[in-house]
Amino acid sequence: MQTAAKNAFSNYINGEWVKSSTNEVSTNKNPADLNDVVGTIQKSGEEDLNQAVEAADQAKKSWGKLAGADRGQYLYKVAEIVEQRKDEIAECMTREMGKTLPEAKGETARGVAILRYYAGEGMRKIGDVIPSSDKDALMFTTRAPLGVVGVITPWNFPVAIPMWKSAPALIYGNTVVIKPATEAALTCAKLMECFAEAGMPAGVINMVTGPGSVIGQGIAEHSKVNALTFTGSNTVGKKLGQIALSRGAKYQLEMGGKNPVIVAEDADLDLAVDATISGGLKSTGQKCTATSRVIVHSSVYETFKEKLLEKTKEITVGDGLKEGIWMGPSASEAQLNTVLSYIEKGKEEGGELLCGGNRIKENGFDQGYFVEPTVFDNITSDMTIAQEEIFGPVLALMKVDDLEEGIELANNVEYGLSASIFTSNVQKMLSFIDDMDAGLVRVNAESAGVELQAPFGGMKQSSSHTREQGEAAKEFFTAVKTVFIK
Ligand code: NAP
Repeated sequence: MQTAAKNAFSNYINGEWVKSSTNEVSTNKNPADLNDVVGTIQKSGEEDLNQAVEAADQAKKSWGKLAGADRGQYLYKVAEIVEQRKDEIAECMTREMGKTLPEAKGETARGVAILRYYAGEGMRKIGDVIPSSDKDALMFTTRAPLGVVGVITPWNFPVAIPMWKSAPALIYGNTVVIKPATEAALTCAKLMECFAEAGMPAGVINMVTGPGSVIGQGIAEHSKVNALTFTGSNTVGKKLGQIALSRGAKYQLEMGGKNPVIVAEDADLDLAVDATISGGLKSTGQKCTATSRVIVHSSVYETFKEKLLEKTKEITVGDGLKEGIWMGPSASEAQLNTVLSYIEKGKEEGGELLCGGNRIKENGFDQGYFVEPTVFDNITSDMTIAQEEIFGPVLALMKVDDLEEGIELANNVEYGLSASIFTSNVQKMLSFIDDMDAGLVRVNAESAGVELQAPFGGMKQSSSHTREQGEAAKEFFTAVKTVFIK
């Protein structure tokens, strides 16, 4: 059944909803049911972006001069409105990019918590007094806003990522131009409605939707965008980082992962199995911190494998709006095709397919981008699926004989975002914490997930090595000024 597009969104610029100068829109459909039209967004051009940046540039002076506590009051109000609208926002997210409704609700609640955390940050300290060697002087640090911050976000966390970038940008006195991923832009537009309803001053936060190659690149190039914070793929991130660097703008890139889990011989195997499934297959494997390589000690390999397969086969796949569904579709046709081509590559290169591996098309699944939860055995480190990010529900099992070999294998990729170990041995935990090249190192817990008050970011090719979230966000979104008063 064809549903009418109820959500027809314009750009949000200078406190107004404005149509794009291109007069073009794009339509977002539900990846679980292509007959379900979720809504339309503007396919904007350079002129629209210029207007948004101009508005943010005009607003930055008065916003930056407000007391942090006053900026915080606005964020508290936005949080209240997002909370009131959480069910509607979560439903839009599920229909737009396919994650299950309970996950979408959890993410929306996370968005509210992030807004409240940073609202409170407006009243916390922003500097230190440093003893001067001159007894008649006062020396201290304070922090200044950067100005206009360009925010470019991916589709896999359509509420949490826009909020964990925009909320700290705003609380520290910056103004924002956000370009959400096209595939999740409707959810972001709903967040903009919450900012509007909260009475955010005009120009303080602006949203322009449109192709990444036009609006995203335009943000990175724009001379009035003082800083760029990007989350997405490595290919795009590195390119944008170079552009920002070339014009002296501050930038922050959070990119892909190829996250390992190590299961030691003394692990609680049931815990390790549950965490591997949850970390690797929830959200259809579309998390930057998703588990994709499972490195298991040879002495427990067969038992672990058996338990993992048993649990994987129990996973219910389907439309995430429906009750009892554990895993939704891939978010787009392109994503589905990428996942299927990695599965083919895995088979070609000698991986043994233990379960899954196919697109699901029967029994009403043909109108969605569904793929089976997939587990490969006999994976070696030189294979493509052991090296490249798949961003789908695919687990690769690898066998090792000791922890040293396991950590070496775990580190043998260009990424370094998240890593987990399952063990009951403290010495093994400590070796793993010391030797693992990853920004998030987790013990007896799944690789995906980090609390909002803790620093988040990767090592190696996963990141530009700044950190998001918690207090760490202050380092990126402000400039330190050292003050000396004689
Ligand atoms: P993507 O294709 O790189 O897109 C990310 C954002 O960049 C989107 O807003 C996109 O706009 C825009 N963009 C695309 N091409 C561009 C270009 N040529 N110039 C400027 N901007 C451009 O990534 P994605 O597919 O949305 O997200 C998946 C990736 O994000 C994965 O690699 C995942 O690991 C990573 N990720 C990382 C983290 C982390 O914190 N480390 C968190 C989540 C996701 P359009 O949508 O309009 O193309």
